[in-house]
Amino acid sequence: VSTGDMLRAAKSSGDLPEALVTQMAAGGLVPDDVVIQLIDARTLAEDCSKGFLLDGFPRTRPQAEALDALLAKRSMNLTAAVALVVPNELLIERATLRRTDKRTGQIYHLKYKPPPHDADLEHRADDQEDVVRSRLQTYERMTSELLPYYEAKGLLKTVDGVGSVDEVSARILAVLPGE
Ligand code: AMP
Repeated sequence: VSTGDMLRAAKSSGDLPEALVTQMAAGGLVPDDVVIQLIDARTLAEDCSKGFLLDGFPRTRPQAEALDALLAKRSMNLTAAVALVVPNELLIERATLRRTDKRTGQIYHLKYKPPPHDADLEHRADDQEDVVRSRLQTYERMTSELLPYYEAKGLLKTVDGVGSVDEVSARILAVLPGE
């Protein structure tokens, strides 16, 4: 469950207020109550009944506390918080060369996963280099409060995010608790 994907879907269907569209394009975070509400509703769906993996949420301490409250209300436990570690220069290359096929939603990378010739490509406004740099600064502020939060709970799993999709996927699966 990705809050970024949900916000982009709301934008495409015209359901995201203009002020939030502008905030996202500039690389800023949207307000906590907006994403908390999205996660609350989405994780009630049947496909989340046995558990779920969140991507891009929580990003702030109030979001982390809201997630704890939501899980407690549903008698669910958080089993792990995965921090993917990648040097900034590689993150910038990954984001600035990332393209999405508008018709299929498939994500490509001009260097690492070239798109087919007939793809109808879109470049995210927040994947422009100056915006990516500002997103990284926001990320650093946010991790400085979130990493200790999950570390103190003994839930933090740090994973090397440099490598192929298959390699990084395998490393993530290896740190997640089994069934
Ligand atoms: P992402 O796809 O995770 O890179 O998110 C894209 C953009 O969506 C972010 O730069 C924020 O503007 C917004 N967003 C996604 N998740 C959150 C969140 N948990 N809290 C605040 N804003 C978010």
